Amino acid sequence: MSQESLKIQPSCADDYDPESLPVAEALRRIEAVVTPLAGRERVAIRAALGRVLAEPVVSPVNVPAHTNSAMDGYAVAAVDLPESGVRELTVIGTALAGQPFSGTLTPGTAVRIMTGAVVPRGADAVVMQEHTEQLGSIVRIGPGHRRGQNIRQAGEDLRAGQVVLGPGRWLTPADLGLLASLGVPEVWVRRRPRVAFFSTGDELRSIGEPLGEGEIYDSNRYTLYGMLSRLGVELIDMGVVGDDRAALSRAFREAAEHADALITSGGVSVGEADYTKEILLALGEVNFWKIAMKPGRPLAFGRIGEALFFGLPGNPVSVMVTFYQFVQPALRRLMGDSTAVEPQPRFRVPCTGRLKKRPGRTEFQRGILEWQGDGTLVVHGTGDQGSGILHTMSRANCFIILPDECGNVEPGTLVEVQPFTGLI
Ligand code: AMP
Ligand code: MG
Repeated sequence: MSQESLKIQPSCADDYDPESLPVAEALRRIEAVVTPLAGRERVAIRAALGRVLAEPVVSPVNVPAHTNSAMDGYAVAAVDLPESGVRELTVIGTALAGQPFSGTLTPGTAVRIMTGAVVPRGADAVVMQEHTEQLGSIVRIGPGHRRGQNIRQAGEDLRAGQVVLGPGRWLTPADLGLLASLGVPEVWVRRRPRVAFFSTGDELRSIGEPLGEGEIYDSNRYTLYGMLSRLGVELIDMGVVGDDRAALSRAFREAAEHADALITSGGVSVGEADYTKEILLALGEVNFWKIAMKPGRPLAFGRIGEALFFGLPGNPVSVMVTFYQFVQPALRRLMGDSTAVEPQPRFRVPCTGRLKKRPGRTEFQRGILEWQGDGTLVVHGTGDQGSGILHTMSRANCFIILPDECGNVEPGTLVEVQPFTGLI
């Protein structure tokens, strides 16, 4: 074999590329250059779901507001609780949630009380109904009780003036309930980023158009639409732009004028019609454009004017993988989410099948996590990991993350998985 033919022969070394950034380094660079948008707005709490708090929320009240009963039973004075034997107390009234008992307990008396009702003056313990016997207006109580039992003290959950939710908090359904429980009607949230996106490629057609030879439907704009919608950003769908230098330049400039971030798919590899990197170099700045990962090695990240730019690969699976691993954390950071670059939950489970992998880059394979009869989890791959096979992404419920140095995985090996739940 001549030297010449050796050079063009594929080899294992293809998976190692000294120009490619390690995954962790790419994330670190994104973190270093992306800062939260300055704008903020005040919204009603229902509209704040999935938004990021811009100001701390301070509790205007004590929670609970009143000392109240945690049980259905009898409110008593602890001095009346017997150490041994049985004590009989006279029931002088009832306290219901929202309908307090207005009197005061005197020695030897008790008040029938329901969960959530204000503990009457003079009482400092509640005895569960199940631990009593009521005979007419008398209640009989045995030993074993103590002062303060079954009582929720005012301010025990939160004190007035305490910070309840801090800035950078991505508001959840529980947070909306928490804010409502404090009587807070509105909060300051950060403005939503405007994210423009378009697909590139002369072969792309839109749904409804007939397909000519070699043409395909543009699916990336739909996955991007779905992923961006879940994030709650404002979308600017710019359609399909052909493999044409002038048209691409125009689209880049227009997007940079109106959007906080631009995402494109296709045209970032080394093909003849791949202009993305060249235009980014001319109009803006490139931070990196290759990551040591599979799928998704070509991924351009930079800026055009004030706008962040993500040039994703064209293959449909690569688009999703690179979005979840890099674009999503970057956009969350832009939104002001303080947890944006913390790694999504990952854990190790046994892999039941064999996985093909060559050392050199991090692979994000599609996997299916399954519960075993004994309550443990195992994972297996979805089969062919080609980056154009979108239906395997649809069938999968997790990424199997195989680090750079890892080779083939034999059945029974522990592998790291990142479930889609919570991620998507
Ligand atoms: P590229 O990175 O432009 O060379 O594209 C890589 C592969 O992804 C090619 O097979 C393209 O046809 C395909 N592709 C690019 N963009 C899209 C898209 N928007 N929807 C579906 N497939 C695409
Ligand atoms: Mg293309």
